[in-house]
Amino acid sequence: MLTGALPRVNLAHLPTPIEPLKRLGAELGGPRLYVKRDDLTGLATGGNKARKLEFLLADALAQGADTVVTCGAAQSNQARQAAAAAARLGLGCVLVLLRPAGGGPPQGNWLLDELLGAEIRWAEDWTRLGAAAEAVAEELREAGRKPYLVPYGASNGYGVLGYVAALEEIAAAGRFGHIVVASSSGGTQAGLVLGARLLGYPVRVLGISIDSGAAELQATVAELANEAAALLGANLSVRPAEVAVNADYLGGGYGVVGEREREAILLAARTEGLVLDPVYTGRALGGLADLIRRGAFPREESVLFVHTGGIPALFAYAELLGGAQAAGNPRPVSSVLLE
Ligand SMILES: *Cc1c(COP(=O)(O)O)cnc(C)c1O
Repeated sequence: MLTGALPRVNLAHLPTPIEPLKRLGAELGGPRLYVKRDDLTGLATGGNKARKLEFLLADALAQGADTVVTCGAAQSNQARQAAAAAARLGLGCVLVLLRPAGGGPPQGNWLLDELLGAEIRWAEDWTRLGAAAEAVAEELREAGRKPYLVPYGASNGYGVLGYVAALEEIAAAGRFGHIVVASSSGGTQAGLVLGARLLGYPVRVLGISIDSGAAELQATVAELANEAAALLGANLSVRPAEVAVNADYLGGGYGVVGEREREAILLAARTEGLVLDPVYTGRALGGLADLIRRGAFPREESVLFVHTGGIPALFAYAELLGGAQAAGNPRPVSSVLLE
């Protein structure tokens, strides 16, 4: 194991399955499609942050921390999985979340955060979330607690190690020409890129950018990969130009569900019974579907899509996504029963 020497706590159900997407692949008319089911990692429903937290929280325990502090959007999957991990390890948890527009009762990840016992502090300014989390950590320190700050997206060198380990699972399963993954804070893609480099596993890891320009994301991914390489004592360096990013699918911005995301969610659900999330995998699979339709992948290639989770957020988008069935099939139940 590449990460064998570093402390790790067991939080995720691993290895996650890899499944063929035959009906979706046939519908798109392209390469052989597969999915890595990281929506099944567990930890309050699953997702990619479970893998990252195995290394981050091992570091927290090694430092004698008693409280996990992290930040994100109101529907942050990372915050929800951090809250679940903290509960499981007997640690406190404070989440600094961006206050949702429109208010309303807690739903989706936010509802789970509350069930999991996390203390929520609302922030108003997206650009100052990280600073707000640091201020909370300082406040806890002054009160005699030992906070451990998990960075935005759980993306730092430790978090990246979770996806170095994931790449080993993928390599053990066979050969794929491409791995396609939603990329936002960059740690997931960084781990896959670094793992492939360390193993000498020939694959192109394509990140579909969720919310930043290509050059910015390439630089972030390379920096994170190098941070993790240093933790592993590996003598290699990933350059931004080696990081494959597509930033053509930013749509209406972070968290905004448009026609592309909606179409991808319905397509995966109806061809494969596979449920995507509205913010990340809906956008990334929408991008992948578009690239396939444009002939971007050879037909004989095997493409692995990483399902990074995020399903609870769907329930915060019910108004946008619901009603699809009613629109296509307006017959009320009573008329079916009468026939
Ligand atoms: C956080 C997240 C991502 C993006 O992963 P990064 O490591 O931040 O790039 C993708 N999908 C889901 C569901 C996520 O919660």
